[in-house]
Amino acid sequence: MKLLDGKVALITGATRGIGKGIAESFAAQGATVAFTYASSAKKAEELEKELADKYGVKVKGYQSNAADFDAAQDLVAEVVKEFGTVDVLVNNAGITRDTLMMRMSEEQWDEVIQTNLKSVFNMTKAVMRTMLKARSGSIINMSSVVGVKGNAGQANYSASKAGILGFTKSIALELGSRNIRCNAIAPGFIETEMTDALDADTVQGWRESIPLKRGGTPEDVAQACLFLASDMSAYITGQTLNVDGGMLT
Ligand code: NDP
Repeated sequence: MKLLDGKVALITGATRGIGKGIAESFAAQGATVAFTYASSAKKAEELEKELADKYGVKVKGYQSNAADFDAAQDLVAEVVKEFGTVDVLVNNAGITRDTLMMRMSEEQWDEVIQTNLKSVFNMTKAVMRTMLKARSGSIINMSSVVGVKGNAGQANYSASKAGILGFTKSIALELGSRNIRCNAIAPGFIETEMTDALDADTVQGWRESIPLKRGGTPEDVAQACLFLASDMSAYITGQTLNVDGGMLT
């Protein structure tokens, strides 16, 4: 018996990086995986095929903008029509538009808040009815250590990630009586395309400052996600799990 046998998981932003790692670890544990992406249609098609062939589970990608309220409603309706329910929602899609506050435009602020924070509201709202009916569900929101601590040059991003933490705790309190759990993960420095944009010296500096002396991998975050998605964490809700190699310790 695998950890997610019989469960349907919906993951936003899974064509690369952390989301892709989560899709793979969920598929390996028997889940049916529905995932979204913004524009990487080819990568999505490849991932569908790769996971279905490797693990013998159903996998389907949907192009859907998580920042768009109506698109989230349509997406969940399609997923429920195809797979019957949503047991696990992972709100992973996120972007950065880093710059110092002096230079940050209104557009850079709005884009990050819409994609990283409003998307979590949109998707939670869209799956709620299905989870309430099932009297069960696990919602996992991808925050960041930057949401816990703040970071110069990321006022928009850290505000969006801190907002996710307040949202997570509130949803845990609201929906706990219906056996719907809601937790957040705060990854530290995870080496993905998002961090490829940083220069090599900065990356080396990050690695050296981490107690475990390395950047994290998408698999490191995916394992934590798997725990929160599965019944192994049946009595855990409203929490933030830092997956950061000790960075914030
Ligand atoms: P990537 O940039 O590697 O991947 C982002 C994914 O999100 C892609 O699949 C992308 O799709 C998708 N996406 C982007 N915008 C939207 C949208 N509007 N609607 C739907 N999907 C969208 O990111 P990471 O894997 O690095 O990060 C994943 C999450 O983890 C983010 O929330 C990030 O903030 C968080 N995080 C990352 C850390 C890190 O060090 N990497 C540290 C802490 C938190 P497409 O391929 O089509 O563009």
